[in-house]
Amino acid sequence: MLHVIVSRGQSNNPKKRALEDQLIEQLDAMAGVRVVITPNLYDLPMQSEGMDALRELEGDLVVLSWSYPRAAHWTLDRCGIRGAEGAVQLIEAVDEDDEDDWEADLAEDTPKERVADQRTPAERNIFCIHLAVSEDAAAFVDEVQRIVKESSAHLLQWLQGEATSEQLDRYLDDRNEPAPLTIAATGGRRWYPVIDFSRCTNCMECIDFCLFGVYGVDGAETILVEQPDNCRKGCPACSRVCPENAILFPQHKSPAIAGSPGATGGLKIDLSELFYGGGGDAVQVAAQERDEQLRLAGREAVGMTIGIPRRQDPDQERPKDDLDSLIDELDELDV
Ligand code: SF4
Ligand code: SF4
Repeated sequence: MLHVIVSRGQSNNPKKRALEDQLIEQLDAMAGVRVVITPNLYDLPMQSEGMDALRELEGDLVVLSWSYPRAAHWTLDRCGIRGAEGAVQLIEAVDEDDEDDWEADLAEDTPKERVADQRTPAERNIFCIHLAVSEDAAAFVDEVQRIVKESSAHLLQWLQGEATSEQLDRYLDDRNEPAPLTIAATGGRRWYPVIDFSRCTNCMECIDFCLFGVYGVDGAETILVEQPDNCRKGCPACSRVCPENAILFPQHKSPAIAGSPGATGGLKIDLSELFYGGGGDAVQVAAQERDEQLRLAGREAVGMTIGIPRRQDPDQERPKDDLDSLIDELDELDV
């Protein structure tokens, strides 16, 4: 049985509600599917009965939400609901100029170790589908149907292979799909960063930059969003500082910051310009946004004096030339 999570929108927009309701009704009638209705997943606290119930779901998952798929995937991941990114065919049209920009840049770069590379490969797939890609419920129902078939094929391999008789019994019991599971809302709207660990290199620039105690590290010294609710509502500053475009704010109005596929948009700038100055410097914008939040919190602005990426000074990385060597020699002579 495949669990299909329908994550409600944050607002009560009647068009969105109508699409969600149509989907719940049609998916509930689909064989091999159990529908799980949740409040907006991003708003659901990590420690809550609702999230506990989601953590107990076994097997592949389909997630239908109003967040971009990348944002939905990593929102669940931070709550311990992990899986490989399932291939979804119902996706938004991406501007050709933006398509795979990040991946192309990545391919040109020296390979870097990403946090996700250090993990044990996931045993399940999570298929995240963006509800904004169509107004037609049938398009989503068809895509879920396709995934059910794909997911069942994997299951069949598993059943023919390594399943124990106990696992097999449990699977067969599950053939009578239970009624939809509805998870109650807990608290209101939230605002916090979500880290995409398939991009994050654990460089710690975000923890140095944020002065509100949002970030921390786990026992393995890996970055995490430790105090999400310390984040200042509307502030996206650290997403501009992250050199890997790994920090998302799923509710931000800019698609690039909210996790739009391919689009790095306002963040897609030459790194030398980003870190070494130049017009429209993203780090300067981030520092201004951070200052604004510090003032609103009754604290003093710090400008570019704290937590600015170390690569700010290109001279530190420039190989020494003859003049540098001569100056070093003169220094040593103490003249
Ligand atoms: S700045 Fe970006 S890449 Fe570096 S640790 Fe933070 S999220 Fe990861
Ligand atoms: S958005 Fe601002 S307050 Fe929130 S984590 Fe980033 S720097 Fe900190």
